[in-house]
Order: sequence, then structure tokens, then C-alpha cells
Amino acid sequence: MTTIAIVGGGFSGTMAAVNLARLSDHDMRVVIINAKRPLGRGTAYGTTRVEHLLNVAARNMSALPDMPSHFVDWLRSRHDFRNTSEAELRQMFAPRRVYGDYIRGLLETCLHPIDARCRVKVESIDDEAVDVAVNHEGLTVLLKGGDTVDAEQVVLATGNQPPGAFPSTSPLRHDPRYRSDPWDDWLSRLPPPGGRVVLLGTGLTMVDIVLTLAEIGWDGKIVAVSRHGMLPKSHFRGIAYQDYLPAEVDSMGLAELRAIVQQHRDRLRQMSQNSAIAIDKLRPHTQRLWRNLSTADKREFLKRDAAIWNVTRHRIAVSIHNKVTDALDSGRLQIVSGTIENLIPGEQHIDVVLRDADGNELIQSGDLIINCTGPQSHFHKRDCRCSIICWQRDWFVVMNSTLVFRLTTILPSLTASARLHRVCMQSVRCLKARCGRPLPFPNFEARRCELPKSFCSVSPRRFRKQTSLSTTSESSRG
Ligand SMILES: Cc1cc2nc3c(=O)[nH]c(=O)nc-3n(C[C@H](O)[C@H](O)[C@H](O)COP(=O)(O)OP(=O)(O)OC[C@H]3O[C@@H](n4cnc5c(N)ncnc54)[C@H](O)[C@@H]3O)c2cc1C
Repeated sequence: MTTIAIVGGGFSGTMAAVNLARLSDHDMRVVIINAKRPLGRGTAYGTTRVEHLLNVAARNMSALPDMPSHFVDWLRSRHDFRNTSEAELRQMFAPRRVYGDYIRGLLETCLHPIDARCRVKVESIDDEAVDVAVNHEGLTVLLKGGDTVDAEQVVLATGNQPPGAFPSTSPLRHDPRYRSDPWDDWLSRLPPPGGRVVLLGTGLTMVDIVLTLAEIGWDGKIVAVSRHGMLPKSHFRGIAYQDYLPAEVDSMGLAELRAIVQQHRDRLRQMSQNSAIAIDKLRPHTQRLWRNLSTADKREFLKRDAAIWNVTRHRIAVSIHNKVTDALDSGRLQIVSGTIENLIPGEQHIDVVLRDADGNELIQSGDLIINCTGPQSHFHKRDCRCSIICWQRDWFVVMNSTLVFRLTTILPSLTASARLHRVCMQSVRCLKARCGRPLPFPNFEARRCELPKSFCSVSPRRFRKQTSLSTTSESSRG
């Protein structure tokens, strides 16, 4: 019987297993190896805090693209939402821990199927994968605890790694005033009322922390710093707007694309509409647009457009936006722009040294510093030994954080040095277009169940042949 090992049991690993279980027409054993974050929930949906909401409305959060109302139907089955109307449910930004219940529940139906005809046996192992070895029979995943898992194919779905480190004058690893992983416990390190918390980053993770501090009524000052000081924008009620990309868009460079988008943003403003609608209309096309850009254009985009793209594209619920605005208005939260250059632990505080756009040095001192700069996207710097080892051996790559690509789709976009062997792993945040930065274009809904389909439909021999391809084209990277 074929065995597929999946390293990582967050959303991606779980849904790879769930889709294998529901789509496979032959006997198969699927082993999920997961450590650190909760199985079936991962980093995003492992939060226990009720104030941490999804940043996508429930109607767009079905885990099963071929059953678009699956999540809303599941929500409706819960007692908590018995009095919530259909329209409200669809529009709702559910707590992420509720979404974690949903994904974990889907996994449960595979771990313990009530349908005896199920041909896929799904198991989970609570351990860390530290290496993948190639042998004559297939692959062996080595676990930290000393056990091994033999498999014909391995999916690396190791997802979000803690944020990258900043330079510091002395090591911060054991300093209780510094939290390098914002998804680990930091509440127990909170300074007493009147203290100062400095958050490195002004994105979605910063917002999570500000919400939690408001929820527990912590009475102190919060300073959030980032290069541009931009905050995520709010969701809004949009209008039906034309698909405006011309047929020849695939051959366009960044300058032409920018001009078209700007033209429609201006037009929307003239119509008294939110210009972000022009960005939303790109959503179905973003993967393709990104792939078609030259490396120089990708670099240029990451340098000049990525910050505004991120805050416009990854928006937050209106209720959350209002809470952040309240915190700003009341002075509890202050945003400071500047590039973080150094962290200096002193006797009383840790100083965060920043450089502003005019070249001036700024210092923000904190009783607690939390790194909210987002998941580490540099493969070689990631804390996951399994990914690092595979990367160093130069014999795989692909996969995931948000997407599960069809292998044939992803192959042409692999880098020359990243030959896909029998291990697949893809991270939208990790395939960095050689620029050392994350890909900005996840297309979450479209592709989620395609990897398992290709596993099911491709024979191991053909799979190996397909996946040993590599490309050398610069422009196709990422
Ligand atoms: C805070 C946060 C909020 C988000 N909110 C949303 C949202 O509202 N809507 C949305 O669509 N997307 C959201 N996202 C994006 C989200 O990351 C993806 O949607 C998706 O959850 C990523 O899942 P994943 O399985 O790839 O990664 P993860 O959730 O990070 O899961 C990876 C799992 O693999 C485990 N692992 C890693 N290495 C190993 C190893 N060597 N051995 C064993 N186990 C290992 C990890 O411990 C973890 O359990 C959010 C992301 C974050 C970080």
C-alpha cells in the first residue's frame, strides 16, 4: 500500500490529508507528522483567543473549493449561531479558533472515519521531523524522538516559521523581555500596568496583540514600529466592478500593469468608491501576473509596491479596524516609522534602534518587545531543520503555507537550484522569486485540493519523472 508522509499538520498538511482521504480511489496510508503547533489548527488557527478573527469573510473560507458553502453550513450547525441569519453568517469574520475547530473536525473524520468503505488510513504522529533520507525503497522521514516513517512520497507542509531575528548587541534568546515568536505565550511576560510594549511590525500579528491587550484591559503604552508605518486597511462593502485587465496582460511589464491599475483606482475614486476594488479585481490573476513578470520587475514591485499591496490586499474586519483606531485615538497605541537597525538590551529596558526616512536615529524603549514581523521566509534561515536539510541537499522544493499547488503548475516556476525530487514542499511565503522576499500573491481559494489529486492520479514512476525536472529560466522563478 502506498504511504504518503505529510510533515506539518497545520491547515495545509491537514487539508492535503483530508483531500487524499476523500479523493483517492485506491488504498493508501497517510501519516501526518506534526509538532509544536496544535494538530489540525497550525499557527493561524491554533490561537485560543476569541478576539483573533479570520481576516476573510466566512463565505470565502470553505476548506473545500468544490463545496464553497461548506464552512458556512458547518457554522450553521453550531448552537452558538442558531440565531444568526444566513446573510450575517456569510459576512461574518469568525474567530480563528472556531475555524480551527472546523479544520480539526475535518481531520477527525479522516483519523476515525465512520464510513468503513474509506480506503485511506490517516494517522498522526506527535513529533518533529528532522530529516528525510532517500533509500532504495523510497523515502524515510526521521523523527526527533528517534522513530522513522517510511513513505513513497513526502509532503513538506511546515508552514509559518517564527519571524526572522534582528541584530542585537547581546543575545536575546533567553531574555524574558524579548519574544521572538509572537504565536508563543507572551502574556505571562507582560509588564505591570503603566509599562511599555514595543511591537516590531505593524501588520496583522501586531493587530492581534493590540486586540488581546485591549481585551484583557492592560493599561500601558503600545508602540508599533515598521519601515513604512502602514496599518492593514479595513474591509468594506464593495460594488460590482468590471474585469478590467486586457487580453494581452500576460506580456505586460510592471510599468504597464501599474498604469492600468492606477487608472482604475482613479476611476473608482471619481465614483466615490474604495480604490481597493481595483486591487481586489486582480485576485484571480495574481499568480499568473507574478509568474510573467521579469526578475527585475519583481524586485521593483517588492521594493516599491509590496507594502501598499499588502495592507490593501490583506484587510481586516471593520470591527477590528475600529478597535485599532480607538487605540490610536486614545493614545494607547502609537505607530512609528523607521527601519529597525538594532536591539540593545539594557538594565531596565530593551532599546529598539530605528533609522527614519531622513536618516535620523530614533530609539524606542520597551519593557517587552514582541517580534511581529511575520513568518520567516528565508528558507536557509528557517528554524525547521527538515526544510533546511532538504534545501541544503538541493533535492526538492516546493510547498506551502497557504497553497497546495498542482505539481505541474508549480514545476515551471521552480528555481534552477531547487530540483523537485520525491519530496514536495511549497510555501508561498518561501518561494521568494530569488529576491529574498516573500511572494505577495497567494490565491488561496483556487488550488487547495489539487495536490492530492495529482498524487492520486500520477503513478509513482511518472511522478518521479515529472518531478525531476528543473528550469533555468530566470523569469520563471517564483
Ligand atoms: C496569525 C495568522 C493569522 C492568519 N489568518 C488567516 C486568515 O484569517 N485567513 C486566511 O486565509 N489565512 C490566514 N493566515 C494564513 C495562514 O498561514 C494560512 O491560511 C494557513 O493556515 C497556513 O497553514 P500551514 O499548514 O501552511 O502552516 P502552519 O499553520 O504554520 O502549520 C505548519 C505546521 O507544521 C508544523 N511543523 C513545522 N515543521 C515541522 C517539523 N519539522 N516536524 C513536524 N511538524 C512541523 C508546525 O508546528 C505547524 O503545526 C494567517 C496566518 C497567520 C500566521
